[in-house]
Amino acid sequence: MREAFKEAMSRFAAGVTVVSARHGEEERGMTATAFMSLSLEPPLVALGVWEGAKVLPVLERSGAFTVSLLREGQEAVSQHFAGRPQEGVFLVEGTVPGALAVLRCRLEALYPAGDHRLVVGRVEAVELGEPGPPLIYFARGYRRLVWPS
Ligand code: FAD
Repeated sequence: MREAFKEAMSRFAAGVTVVSARHGEEERGMTATAFMSLSLEPPLVALGVWEGAKVLPVLERSGAFTVSLLREGQEAVSQHFAGRPQEGVFLVEGTVPGALAVLRCRLEALYPAGDHRLVVGRVEAVELGEPGPPLIYFARGYRRLVWPS
């Protein structure tokens, strides 16, 4: 069942995000595909975050977080914030430079969800980057969307 569940989930295509939070001097970022738009009124988003993720206590203490939606070509950024450090990857004001869009959120609710936490955020500000194709994760690898020229 466990292997079948993982295999089924590998067949679900997802955009890649980096969720980040800052409290005092501490700032943490983490790659996440378990992200969704939850509500329009009020504007809410949800993220599934592993209970051991270092970003989680920072997010809880600060009561705020930021979600950067990665664009095609930002594989190294995704790898970096998934624990495989890459040269020249950093956050600027809590966001990934060059992201497709950035959502600045206030922590609305945090629910237990097995070995993860369901993080619900109220979107307080949206920053739009240049439009373009997203970074996609599917079948255990980064993929490209066929994008109209
Ligand atoms: P940390 O080790 O603290 O951080 C991860 C990496 O980011 C480290 O290399 C660290 O050096 C770097 N980093 C952290 N903060 C900064 C900073 N301020 N500036 C520069 N670098 C920094 N896990 C989930 O819980 N939910 C998901 O939806 C999810 N989706 C994933 C999708 C993909 C495609 C991948 C590859 C991984 C996904 N993961 C997900 C796993 C998750 O990204 C890793 O488990 C992550 O390393 C855990 O984060 P951490 O906060 O514990 O780790």
